[in-house]
Amino acid sequence: MAKVKGDIEINVERCKGCEVCIASCPFTVIAMTKEVNGKGYHYAIKVNDDCTGCMNCAIVCPDGVITVYRAKVTAE
Ligand code: SF4
Ligand code: SF4
Repeated sequence: MAKVKGDIEINVERCKGCEVCIASCPFTVIAMTKEVNGKGYHYAIKVNDDCTGCMNCAIVCPDGVITVYRAKVTAE
């Protein structure tokens, strides 16, 4: 059975820490750091490998700093 595996890349220096991506992810892939980026904002990071590539986070991010990758994988 083919299913889609996703991955995300977040440009942390451009993240403004609004957190809307966190609420948008059905698989709790994103969390905020305690550290701040060069602009002084807490930033979003990937915290697990459960991403399906659904694109929700990239769509809601007001600054467009999340890139989503999708790859079809065939489960044994
Ligand atoms: S693409 Fe979907 S599953 Fe992956 S991190 Fe974004 S919201 Fe979560
Ligand atoms: S939605 Fe975008 S700007 Fe807001 S916390 Fe997530 S990655 Fe950062």
